Amino acid sequence: MPAPALEIHGLKKSFGEKGKPMVEAVRGIDLTIAKGEMFGLVGPDGAGKTTLIRMLCGILKPDSGSAKILGLDLATQMKEIKPRIGYLSQRFSLYPDLTVDENIEFFAEIHEVKNYRVRANELLEFTRLIPFRNRLADQLSGGMKQKLALAATLIHKPEIIFLDEPTTGVDPVSRREFWKILSSLLEEGITILMTTPYLDEAERCSRVGLMSAGTILFADTPKNVKKQMKGSVIEIILNDLHRATETLRLHDEILEVQTFGDRINVVVEERVTVEALKMWLDSSGISVRSIRTIQPSLENVFIALLREQAPSETDTVSTEEKGSAHV
Ligand code: ADP
Ligand code: MG
Repeated sequence: MPAPALEIHGLKKSFGEKGKPMVEAVRGIDLTIAKGEMFGLVGPDGAGKTTLIRMLCGILKPDSGSAKILGLDLATQMKEIKPRIGYLSQRFSLYPDLTVDENIEFFAEIHEVKNYRVRANELLEFTRLIPFRNRLADQLSGGMKQKLALAATLIHKPEIIFLDEPTTGVDPVSRREFWKILSSLLEEGITILMTTPYLDEAERCSRVGLMSAGTILFADTPKNVKKQMKGSVIEIILNDLHRATETLRLHDEILEVQTFGDRINVVVEERVTVEALKMWLDSSGISVRSIRTIQPSLENVFIALLREQAPSETDTVSTEEKGSAHV
């Protein structure tokens, strides 16, 4: 069997500053990603997604644990790993006062890619940036900037790419175009580990991991993740969303109320029926236009899973609790 693209065991990282509580950003992660997979990491801000990726790219040193990338050891073989991976950071990584071409050239030089012209043309073609090659990066649209950043990430033909929120803040049309590019990369056999705040994107990954407070709560296919849903989801369409939400939240059997435009999704314990819900609203004088049970979405499931965690679970712990994990 070929080595997996990524094999992580007990990876940990804390950040400490004098006089401040220690932040356990990554609390011991085990994860294996096969070659050719597209793994989507989702989770709230501060969950530790960026820290995990930065460790895997050799930018941050783990406190403990180990990882193998393409069969190579993260701690001792980073030199061999580096040319085979690509990293698109969450913070903007392009030079605003360089043109599209010059940015690509700059990344080619960093990665010591010789005769990169052909590859650069190929990538600009692929990302449809040829007409803009002489434009300053600063003057590109958000979507084009991300495509250029991706092209720069691919200049040295990496086998695995780490994309940290590559489509955040990008308009929906450009997001779709960006995803088309990712799909072609997958067809070429590249492995992708990405983070995204968009659950419709997570839905398109071969597997998705839910990260919270430094751990991965769940990693499975979107289909299997949805099977984890405890309780059911009832969709209600009505006029007075605000009052309905407040009324429903008074009931303990209701796990979560989410609003989406003109409708609310209510995650309820299994035993709560549509009729009961309707009655609660009726008795508060709230009229309902439509009410039905629906298939849970990834969003419904993730919120429910996050809620299941102990309420005391936060992303910071006191230095006392931290004990000896600090190296
Ligand atoms: P995410 O990418 O999921 O939003 P991060 O990995 O950026 O999460 O952050 C995880 C936690 O680690 C947060 O509490 C964050 O404030 C903290 N953190 C990240 N980087 C540093 C750093 N360089 N110094 C101190 N704390 C940090
Ligand atoms: Mg992040």
